[in-house]
Amino acid sequence: MSARVGVGYDSHRLVPDRPLILGGVEIPCELGLSGHSDADVLAHAITDAILGAAGAGDIGAHFPPSDERWRDADSMELLRAVLAKLGGRVLNVDATVICEAPPIGPHREAIQERLSEAVDARVSVKATTNEGLGAIGRGEGMAAIAVALYEPANGPPEGTPPRTSSDE
Ligand code: MG
Repeated sequence: MSARVGVGYDSHRLVPDRPLILGGVEIPCELGLSGHSDADVLAHAITDAILGAAGAGDIGAHFPPSDERWRDADSMELLRAVLAKLGGRVLNVDATVICEAPPIGPHREAIQERLSEAVDARVSVKATTNEGLGAIGRGEGMAAIAVALYEPANGPPEGTPPRTSSDE
C-alpha cells in the first residue's frame, strides 16, 4: 500500500452579514466567515490535507484569492475539483473545528455526510473551543485542522525511494 498522510490548517475571521458554511452545510448564526470564496474553513483545511498528502501544493496555489473566478466560490466544488485533478482516492479524513460559537455538535452528522460524499471516504469531524484563549477564544474567528490519508492514482509519487522489504 502506498497511502500518504497530509495535514491542513485554515482560519477565517467571523463577521456580520456573511453565511456560516462548514463542510458545505450552512449553519444558522449571526456571524459568518469572511474570505474571498465562501470561506468554508473546514473544507479548506481538508482540501489542504489532501493536497499535502498528494504532494501537490496548497489550496492558495490552485485557487489564488487574487483570481476573480474564485470570488464567493463554493469550497466544496473546489474540493471536488482538486480530487478530480489529482485522481487517486482518499482513504479517510479526520478534522477538528475550533471555535467558541455556535455549537457544532448539532450539525456534525450533516457536515460529516456532506464531506464523506464529496471525498468518497469516511470523514470524522470533531469540534472544540479555544477555552477563551486568543482571537479564536474571543470569538473573532474560527479555525480548522485536518488530516487526510490518500492513495495516489499511479503508485508512489516521483522521487519516492524504491521500496524495500522493511516497508512491508
Ligand atoms: Mg481558507
